[in-house]
Amino acid sequence: MAHFTVIGLGRFGITTSLELIHLGHTVTGIDIDEKLAEQYASDLTQTLICDATDERAMAELSLHDSEAVIVAIGEDMQASLLCVLNLKHENVSNIWVKANSQAHHTILSKLDVARIIHPEEEMGVRVAQALNYPMVNDYLSLGHGHYIVEVVIPQKRTPFTLNDLINGYKNDIHCLMIKRRQSIHCSPDSTFGFETDDQVILSGPREILAKIAPRLS
Ligand code: ADP
Repeated sequence: MAHFTVIGLGRFGITTSLELIHLGHTVTGIDIDEKLAEQYASDLTQTLICDATDERAMAELSLHDSEAVIVAIGEDMQASLLCVLNLKHENVSNIWVKANSQAHHTILSKLDVARIIHPEEEMGVRVAQALNYPMVNDYLSLGHGHYIVEVVIPQKRTPFTLNDLINGYKNDIHCLMIKRRQSIHCSPDSTFGFETDDQVILSGPREILAKIAPRLS
């Protein structure tokens, strides 16, 4: 369990905060708007009313107890940047910031924050990927065109084996595991026989994964 501070309880900030609470962490939520601080007081570990651009007010908060501070002030770029400068002044090292525009991103990238988040773009990419490969349930980009994907075995003429799925690409595509209801099969043999609705975790280059995708339709 870790403690996090989320500054700005708009849609993004509160969704992040509630998910962190759901995952078993503690969260201090901060907003300049007292109505929001009151509204979420019982959902989060604590909420504080504070203007994050106010250097002195920020210095009084115990920000160092946090594993990370998430700046979720999206709309008001000036307030977001002043907030980041205040956090830097307090020597907070793990700062994650939601950026709303390219200009915002450019300035943040000069301020050496741990992560710049673009929720709309990141979600947009995931939605486009899901539309492009409807059989892919979820994916993780490993960089350099390599992905880990989760695919679901559709209703098939059986038997349909791992070998049928990755035949011809065995050097490129690796099956990490298969989840069947409650059980997990790690590094399965290529003779593994699929059942409808098995969730299969594969890793490999995007273009090779795209080549085997038709075998799932
Ligand atoms: P979203 O798109 O996630 O809803 P918003 O930009 O609309 O993002 O929400 C940002 C939140 O940040 C609002 O609740 C707003 O009250 C809060 N906020 C704006 N300026 C400050 C500030 N100086 N200090 C603290 N919170 C702020």
